[in-house]
Amino acid sequence: MSIAFQSAKLQSDLSSQRRVLVAGGAGFLGSHLCERLLQDGHSVICVDDFSTGRLENLRHLLNYDTFSFVRHDIVERLDLPVNEIYNLACPASPPHYQADPVHTMKTSVIGSLNLLELAAHYQARIFQASTSEVYGDPHVHPQPESYWGNVNSFGPRSCYDEGKRSAETLFYDFHQQYGVDIRIVRIFNTYGPRMRPDDGRVVSNFIVQALKGEDITVYGDGSQTRSFCYVDDLIEGFYRLMYSPQAIHTPVNIGNPGELTVGELAEQIVGMTGSSSKVVYHPLPVDDPRQRRPDITVAQRELGWEPTVALADGLKSTIAYFERQLRKPSGKLAE
Ligand code: NAD
Ligand code: UDP
Repeated sequence: MSIAFQSAKLQSDLSSQRRVLVAGGAGFLGSHLCERLLQDGHSVICVDDFSTGRLENLRHLLNYDTFSFVRHDIVERLDLPVNEIYNLACPASPPHYQADPVHTMKTSVIGSLNLLELAAHYQARIFQASTSEVYGDPHVHPQPESYWGNVNSFGPRSCYDEGKRSAETLFYDFHQQYGVDIRIVRIFNTYGPRMRPDDGRVVSNFIVQALKGEDITVYGDGSQTRSFCYVDDLIEGFYRLMYSPQAIHTPVNIGNPGELTVGELAEQIVGMTGSSSKVVYHPLPVDDPRQRRPDITVAQRELGWEPTVALADGLKSTIAYFERQLRKPSGKLAE
């Protein structure tokens, strides 16, 4: 372990309470998850290398005595006695995961292996943040969990897509071979406060561009579709899967089935921000999926889960968050 922060706190937490390790806890989704776990009285250890995560996402959690964080790359082994593990560690935005594709692959494969070994050793339940990218550029629409996908193993997105697919396989293997108690969520595009302004994904790009009066960069002709889930709905889905009375050891889609084109998203964000920005068209990235929409029948049936936040409401909160980020005195968008 390289640098340990608040180690006294960490040591005292380890002696008594139910301990939850959140790998990737300083990121967009991970920080919301840490917050929910702390609010519910769990003791949380966030493990993060801060490659895309930010201290700013955790600052408000430092008031909890039950919260600790450790700067650590999960590609290196770690040993912390814990009862539960959530693995969210992995860059999620295409420009970030493609910046160091070898490390992205190592994070999903070797990082997951390290956490699974930890789970096996301490008999901890372990949760994997998988992705709709396991379906690739899908030939089946909407995508049910039973669809095996259409993924290119040899391209710029492969480090992420195939890394996540391999991680799912490792979870399956540890469950079959060692009886590790696994949960796997396949997350569809999720947005909300605490995304980095320079994250590079479509919702944050369009909102920041609209608020700054810059051109809105639509890739391709904007006819490709995505289905966007608000972060609070997603975290509720994580919870229901992790703590459902009957253990579900197979992957479960969590996402909002409301599907729209990237062009429609641009129009909606320009309208909601009252921006004077104009749309410009850039080349479509290689292997960019044409369409994406979750079939959430399993989540509805097994978890009683479905999204509750309409896109307009989620975008409203997200726009308000980015407005606050842009008003920061330093003029800097991110720490
Ligand atoms: P994010 O980039 O904000 O968070 C990822 C976090 O993991 C960051 O804090 C980063 O510093 C940390 N991290 C990356 N590599 C690491 C390593 N080797 N060791 C330790 N920490 C490391 O992204 P996010 O949107 O919060 O995504 C969280 C998880 O959910 C990821 O695993 C991602 O693949 C998955 N996911 C997210 C979405 C989405 O729409 N947000 C969709 C599908 C899957
Ligand atoms: N996209 C876009 N402009 C941007 C960023 C992304 O048109 O500034 C497109 C991208 O090509 C893709 C969709 O929006 O078709 C969603 O991209 P994102 O990176 O958010 O997620 P993913 O491709 O992983 O679903």
